[in-house]
Amino acid sequence: MSEFDLIRRYFTRAAPGAVLGVGDDAALLRIGNGMELAVSTDMLVSGTHFLPDADPFLLGHKTLAVNLSDMAAMGAQPRWALLSLAMPQADEAWLQQFSDGFFTLAAQHGVELIGGDTTRGPLNLCVTIMGEVPQGAALRRDGAQAGDDVWVSGSLGDAALALAHLQGKFQLSAADFSSCAPALHQPQPRVALGLALRGVAHSAIDVSDGLLADLGHILECSKAGAEILFTALPISRTLQPYLAQPLGKHCALAGGDDYELCFTVPASRRAEVEKIPVKLGLPLTRIGSIVAGSGCAVRAADGSVINMGESGYDHFR
Ligand code: ADP
Ligand code: MG
Repeated sequence: MSEFDLIRRYFTRAAPGAVLGVGDDAALLRIGNGMELAVSTDMLVSGTHFLPDADPFLLGHKTLAVNLSDMAAMGAQPRWALLSLAMPQADEAWLQQFSDGFFTLAAQHGVELIGGDTTRGPLNLCVTIMGEVPQGAALRRDGAQAGDDVWVSGSLGDAALALAHLQGKFQLSAADFSSCAPALHQPQPRVALGLALRGVAHSAIDVSDGLLADLGHILECSKAGAEILFTALPISRTLQPYLAQPLGKHCALAGGDDYELCFTVPASRRAEVEKIPVKLGLPLTRIGSIVAGSGCAVRAADGSVINMGESGYDHFR
């Protein structure tokens, strides 16, 4: 059973009191004064999401960053967070650095920590985040339409490349590793981009499990298909030389932990999207389009379809 079948079968129930329940990057709750509350929670488990000896400052950053990324994907302004910690012992040096990493990023986004829970146990970090979005303005997974362009921010695959190196599946030079390691250890949530896409994008998701898997969620929710051009994907100079190999392709299309946004915008509004990179200092790349049908076809320059075995990270497959 896949992670997503599991959630659908056991934990997806009608929630008529919510604007949007299980199934998107965050839930939406009406809070009056024309606003909705976007709420999401993400857990980081030692050994699964990070190595037990991970740098605590960077871990504090990443624990909040992955949650901010879900706010970005909804076009929500992040406001409040709850932090639940299980730890084997209270190591003060570790806690000082972890909280510094957490609060440094929180301050950059105006997020306040308002509560949480602390208990002894195997290291486990869980943040619940809340943000605000004007009623009806959230970027959801179910709004893509045939004729939309598909866009992605930043570059894809560097975090997966760095992880492959750390896991010994791949040998990078020291210089190459240090250029892709920040993508893995210190992802930058695209909050400003999410806000800029309100009223522009038809749909959005953050790329946490790999482009194919996450774009796949948009396609499923929107009952649409997509055509993607492999050579159009934004790939860093570090990953570029490995693209001909299966591992390189895997990083680009199915690597997790990118925390970029993938979003769709009607082709008629392309010019508006093209103005955003200058304003935000963040590259945006048009990688394909939404079509009628289902599923995502990734094409090589000669038009042939590139087949990928599995299409993203799934905790239970
Ligand atoms: P993301 O990668 O954006 O954080 P997930 O893939 O973790 O999203 O989750 C997909 C959807 O399923 C989200 O709406 C999430 O809130 C919901 N979900 C995940 N696990 C559970 C659970 N145990 N109970 C209820 N809803 C869940
Ligand atoms: Mg998400």
